[in-house]
Amino acid sequence: MKQFTHRNEGFTCLHCGAEVPAASQTCRNHCTACLHSRHVDITPGDRAAGCQGLMAPVEVTVEGGLPVGLVHKCVRCGFRGKNKLADDDNRDVLFQIMEKSAFGQ
Ligand SMILES: [Zn+2]
Ligand SMILES: [Zn+2]
Repeated sequence: MKQFTHRNEGFTCLHCGAEVPAASQTCRNHCTACLHSRHVDITPGDRAAGCQGLMAPVEVTVEGGLPVGLVHKCVRCGFRGKNKLADDDNRDVLFQIMEKSAFGQ
């Protein structure tokens, strides 16, 4: 039986070098400062991807006018993955991405 593994641990951001603490509510999978992630999962939490590439935030998913999720794209292999936003994610960066995707990239 295949299950999502719940991983929640702090890490050092590959992009900006920030020390990212483990999340209080959800699985931590991206940097709260610059919102970059790392290509380590095939299904969320499994850490089964061999790529390890930097994943850039390229799109914000919006529900009812509020940002709820983030789409990351791996700069190494082009893999795209969806993530949930955390409460302490940097809203300024979030809105920059929303503006960018609204006006085309
Ligand atoms: Zn960062
Ligand atoms: Zn990748």
